[in-house]
Amino acid sequence: MPARTVFQAVLVALASVLMASVWADQASVPGGAPVPGAQTAALEPVADAALEAAGNGRTVRVGSLGGGSVSVLPLEVYVARVLAGEAAPNTADGALQALAIAARTFTIVNAGRHDRDGFDICDTTHCQVFRAATAATRRAVLVSAGLVLTYNGTPAEVFYSASCGGRTERASEVWAAGGRFPYLLGVDDEVHEGDPVWRLERSLDEVRDAVARLGPRGTRLEDLRIDSRSGSGRVSRVSLPGLSPDTLTGDQLRSALGFAELRSTAFTMERTGDRMRFEGRGYGHGVGLCVVGAGRRAARGETAEAILRHYFPALETRRLDP
Ligand SMILES: [Zn+2]
Ligand SMILES: [Zn+2]
Repeated sequence: MPARTVFQAVLVALASVLMASVWADQASVPGGAPVPGAQTAALEPVADAALEAAGNGRTVRVGSLGGGSVSVLPLEVYVARVLAGEAAPNTADGALQALAIAARTFTIVNAGRHDRDGFDICDTTHCQVFRAATAATRRAVLVSAGLVLTYNGTPAEVFYSASCGGRTERASEVWAAGGRFPYLLGVDDEVHEGDPVWRLERSLDEVRDAVARLGPRGTRLEDLRIDSRSGSGRVSRVSLPGLSPDTLTGDQLRSALGFAELRSTAFTMERTGDRMRFEGRGYGHGVGLCVVGAGRRAARGETAEAILRHYFPALETRRLDP
């Protein structure tokens, strides 16, 4: 299971009455309110002390996988730093707030993940990367302080990916354990029209050598075929005649060829002689929040509430208990 869960990994339609009340609480927070029409206060800098106060005393122990000291940070101070590490510069406020809620949810759900190492969360892509907070990330965190995504009233395991390319994916289509997240559904994402496709070319020998590192062996890969696709159109299984075992999941093929090379499983494939040409859309597993899509939605005026409802239609945004 890839680690970038939050977010790096989210039904029941959101109760609009509840949402209205949750978000209305934020209307008077300096730094910009997500409620349409609310009076926007001057953009005053948000200090760590304000974030700490907004966190009601919650803290998170952050450590490094290679050892070293463990920092105990106020939860909301930590989330503002994660946003700086994970969101693209100049991300519109609505998307930053949506990402803040997803990152906070990830942090709460995964607290204790590194108990054996003596901390809660690590500072690599295994958990969440963080950097110095910016004015924008601090504001987004203060405005959304205490809000998390929940399923049946409990903070949910959430995921995100860089770009879905047009439709997000059900968790159960990507990972064997994805059935544990029945609330991670596939939704259309109409903001990708006009996105360029990506291309990759490899010889059958190169594919064979790459796949051999995962286990399947054979002297010659005779062909590479798409066996099945998921409901979103992504490749769920490929066959590798000539190798043994002779099938892989789409995600395993990405792992073999490189997640940055075979950028997603939303691809088509064409063979000419011994050359395989892949052409695809999007970047990442496609489960949960689409970061590129969230940014575009916010840029066209969508609120964090609307963005989260779009990508996580089965989850409900709620305030953590005091
Ligand atoms: Zn970790
Ligand atoms: Zn998308």
